Order: sequence, then C-alpha cells, then structure tokens
Amino acid sequence: MKSRSGGAFVALSDWILAHDGSVFGAGYDEKEKFYKVVHKKATTHEQRDEFRCSKYVQSDLCDVFPRIKEALEQGRKVLFSGTGCQVGALYSYLPKEYDNLYTIDIVCHGVPSPKMWKDFLKMREKELHGKAEVVQFRDKKILDGHRIMRQFR
Ligand SMILES: Cc1cc2nc3c(=O)[nH]c(=O)nc-3n(C[C@H](O)[C@H](O)[C@H](O)COP(=O)(O)OP(=O)(O)OC[C@H]3O[C@@H](n4cnc5c(N)ncnc54)[C@H](O)[C@@H]3O)c2cc1C
Repeated sequence: MKSRSGGAFVALSDWILAHDGSVFGAGYDEKEKFYKVVHKKATTHEQRDEFRCSKYVQSDLCDVFPRIKEALEQGRKVLFSGTGCQVGALYSYLPKEYDNLYTIDIVCHGVPSPKMWKDFLKMREKELHGKAEVVQFRDKKILDGHRIMRQFR
C-alpha cells in the first residue's frame, strides 16, 4: 500500500540493500524539499523509502551518474531506478557493461515540467495559507476496497 503500483521496486531494492549495495532513485531535494524532485543515493531502508511513490515531475539527475560509476568500480551492487530515458542515458554514460549493475525503468508515458509543479505547489500554498508538509501524487488511501467496488459497479 505504501508503493504507487505493485511495489516491485521495494522488493528489488530490499535485495540490493541486503547485499550491502547502493540504491539510486527519485526523492526530494534537501534544500528545496517538495518543490524539486532529484535523484539521490540510499544505503539504508529509511533513505530508500523516500524513493517510494511516483513523483509526477521530471527529476534532476544531479551527479548520480559519476557516483554510480564510482560504486560500480568499487565492486558494490548498484540499483538505479528511473524513467526509460534516464536508464538509457545511464547505459550510454557508462564506459562498459557491469555485472553488478541492476536497473529498473518504470512504466512512463512522459514527465511533467518541474516549473509547472513548482508553480502549482506555490499556488496551493498561497490559497491554503500554509506550507506543504506531505505530498502524495495519486494517493492510494482513497482506493479502499469499498470505494473500488463502488467504482466497478
Ligand atoms: C513521471 C511518471 C510517469 C508515469 N507514467 C506512467 C504511464 O504512462 N503508465 C503507467 O501505467 N504508469 C505510469 N507511471 C507509474 C509508474 O510506472 C509507477 O510509479 C511504478 O510502476 C511504481 O512501481 P512500484 O510500486 O514498484 O514503485 P514504488 O515502490 O512506488 O517506487 C517508486 C519508484 O519510481 C521511481 N520514481 C518515482 N518518481 C520518479 C520520477 N519522477 N522519475 C524517475 N523515477 C521516479 C522511484 O525511484 C522508485 O523506484 C508513471 C510514473 C511516473 C513517475
């Protein structure tokens, strides 16, 4: 229920973490918080859990490609999760194939603009006279069994 689809990402990243590996996925920027989606590294379950849930915004890859290369060269298992084009870019960036690299490309029809997301969040905060404390794209809470049954009737 905490994942946005079936949670395959959590099962696969659990395995990587159990083997002392590094997981790279989409989370939020330290400074700009929910305003900016960025790719970052996780080596603990707590850090990895931030990557759960779809963020419908193009993520900034920052410096993760060189960091992935470094971890691969050190012999660590690495899992990179992102859109198909980000995964394609990673394979283009790396100079060779690595047996210790695992990639997940999420089903993705396209990424909404970061500027649009920033403007939208600012607009909602202004309307509600507050600051966003939690952001949930496509929250599963409203999809409880009762409502799902009603939708299908
Ligand atoms: C931009 C975008 C477009 C999508 N388009 C479609 C679609 O057309 N059809 C469809 O069926 N499903 C679409 N999805 C849904 C997507 O395929 C599911 O989010 C994914 O399958 C979740 O799987 P999970 O439950 O295993 O992941 P979870 O456990 O929920 O983890 C989320 C995973 O998605 C990654 N992720 C989250 N946001 C982003 C992002 N902005 N950029 C890159 N990676 C991200 C995280 O790193 C993590 O690996 C889209 C999702 C996103 C973010």
